[in-house]
Amino acid sequence: MIIAGPCSAETESQVLATAQGVKKAGGHVLRAGIWKPRTRPGNFEGVGAIGLKWIQRAKQETGLLTAVEVANPHHVELVLDHDIDILWIGARTSVNPFSVQEIADALRGTDKIVLVKNPINPDLALWIGAMERIAKAGIDKLGAIHRGFSSYKKMPYRNEPLWQIPIDLKTRFPQLPLINDPSHISGKRENVFDIAQTAVQMLFDGLMIETHIDPENAWSDARQQITPEMLSEMIPEFVPPKDIVFNADLLKSFKLLRKEIDDLDTELVQLLRNRQDKIEEIGRLKFKENLAIYQKERWLDILDKAINNARENQVNQKFIEQLFRLLHQESLKLQHQVFKNLNSEDQ
Ligand code: PEP
Ligand code: MN
Repeated sequence: MIIAGPCSAETESQVLATAQGVKKAGGHVLRAGIWKPRTRPGNFEGVGAIGLKWIQRAKQETGLLTAVEVANPHHVELVLDHDIDILWIGARTSVNPFSVQEIADALRGTDKIVLVKNPINPDLALWIGAMERIAKAGIDKLGAIHRGFSSYKKMPYRNEPLWQIPIDLKTRFPQLPLINDPSHISGKRENVFDIAQTAVQMLFDGLMIETHIDPENAWSDARQQITPEMLSEMIPEFVPPKDIVFNADLLKSFKLLRKEIDDLDTELVQLLRNRQDKIEEIGRLKFKENLAIYQKERWLDILDKAINNARENQVNQKFIEQLFRLLHQESLKLQHQVFKNLNSEDQ
């Protein structure tokens, strides 16, 4: 399912022309922001209720379903008055249980479709909690939108995807429709397709893609919006992976390989158990000889050997380095525990 349309409704003709483009490209739902939650004041904050009339007209002209962001009960009331089909809760609202509850109360008794964007911070419980509040108000046509997570790190994307979070959500609630928003994750139109394709490969149920007839001159999110023409080139490329259940031979190979991987994983944990025994033994020796737990030379030597080993065996060196840092941290913790136990025995 493709939801597409401008970040913001700007003018009537922009909404109508974009809607025609989305329809032609094969989209199913027209989105447009009417009230824009901006990080800093002074940026374009949306055209307000007048834009709802333009969206209503676009719906009549194209037959597309329509979707608008709501951030408070007043927005909900106006959106309901204008026959909008889908309401979504934005990332700056889903973080706040008070706001979500107010919206949920305003929605009680309606049969609208409600989509909840992940909160800006990576907190699955908060995301689920927001959806639970909406569900408790009697809304059963509920879906989630993954738009990535805010980060202070320097990174190639505007919002970090952290794919594990929506995957965990899907694992816990397999029936919940999950939509990906590649526009707000990528922040750049060049990267929209890659993110969207990844989501399709991961069996997301739909995409929300910001689409504008003149993206460079958009009043908000100009860098990340694509034209309806770009959208129409993209849509046919979104081919979800085949379901392996229907291919008996493939399924057999998967079973075999997965069994082998499971066996290796068991072996790996057993190896770590053996390593732990040696670490505890050396910890006891250090305690007895009154030596420091952390031995810098030894740690640098372990790391050096591991990285060389990785290079020779063609395993990603960065990954091995991270793994060994974790192992070393655990080793220090184990030895601290040994020291603590021996200390209390001494007393
Ligand atoms: C939007 O969809 O235009 C928007 C403001 O998104 P988000 O809530 O994901 O930042
Ligand atoms: Mn936007």
